[in-house]
Amino acid sequence: MSNRAFNFNAGPAALPLEVLERAQAEFVDFHGTGMSIMEMSHRGAVYEAVHNEASSRLLKLLGNPSGYMVLFLQGGASTQFAMLPMNLLTEGKTAGYVKSGSWANKAIKEAKLIGDTFIAGSSEADKYMRMPDLSSLSLPEHTAYLHLTSNETIEGTQFREFPDTGNVPLIADMSSDILCRPFDLTQFGMVYAGAQKNLGPSGVTVVIAREELLQNSPKHLPTMFRYDTHADNNSLYNTPPSFSIYMVNEVLKWIEEQGALTGVEQKNREKADLLYRFIDESNGFFRGCTQPDSRSTMNVTFRLASEELEKLFIKESEKEGFIGLKGHRSVGGLRASIYNAVPYAAVKALVDFMGQFQKTHG
Ligand code: PMP
Repeated sequence: MSNRAFNFNAGPAALPLEVLERAQAEFVDFHGTGMSIMEMSHRGAVYEAVHNEASSRLLKLLGNPSGYMVLFLQGGASTQFAMLPMNLLTEGKTAGYVKSGSWANKAIKEAKLIGDTFIAGSSEADKYMRMPDLSSLSLPEHTAYLHLTSNETIEGTQFREFPDTGNVPLIADMSSDILCRPFDLTQFGMVYAGAQKNLGPSGVTVVIAREELLQNSPKHLPTMFRYDTHADNNSLYNTPPSFSIYMVNEVLKWIEEQGALTGVEQKNREKADLLYRFIDESNGFFRGCTQPDSRSTMNVTFRLASEELEKLFIKESEKEGFIGLKGHRSVGGLRASIYNAVPYAAVKALVDFMGQFQKTHG
């Protein structure tokens, strides 16, 4: 299909063309039912099979570790910023937060509304242009959990490895890099992600957690904000975002077809290397924003010599069919989000465009 945009949006973001086409083919009549998946009861066998398949496929991609379960929730990762401390940051406990950038700060803001918190590591002094060093963590005895953001979508930083937190559950907001590479789920008590970058369309938030962490919700919490409500009802306590969950299942199938997480990681590495190498070799015309040891393979942030030149870059790139290259409004600059579904050819086209732009304006 030739009229697909070069889509570098930060989220909602590019989805695999194969997935969109498959969804299109069964959009009106799902598996001979004479209905779209969107028109069916979430209590029926046809939908429930899709729902359960999405959950088991996700766990399988993560190596099927025992004792973990998947929840499909609504309200975005932003709701998890509050729901997590509401459920786990109980009386007499404190929660550690890694202060790594814009999204970590939003998580911290919510947790502070609920209970006692401390900053376990911070890169604020480096203007969040690197991930904090977590090699000498100190966690008090009554720490409920340690929260980190595996990939800062706005700044463009990403953790290479995760700390050993012993008996303290490690919890990660993986909204912008989940399933971009293999990771050891057993190192985590819980990970969560809004789907709209690497997993599917917006509308569903995936929570993957050790079962025992989902069973300690304080008695006073309203039903919908309790992890145990959703865990005890297979995420079917209320009407789930069925179409989004169906799409997540299709994206997970596509990931399997790419050689699962190791295959996806290799492709992501190739795309990120191509773009960062080009930036590094542009003789300072393009400047990467983040420290090399923390560079994100998902969100590549860079700048030009002036804001005027950046504006011109956006304008000319849009004319050539490149979408979403403007940096987040809070930090400015430029950003190319190259999630799993962004093809190598799109990154190659971007690098060619950047070369041309440099020749004309450098
Ligand atoms: N965390 C991170 C790392 C994100 O990138 C985002 C969205 N860009 C969020 C949380 C918030 O997600 P949502 O919009 O699904 O609430």
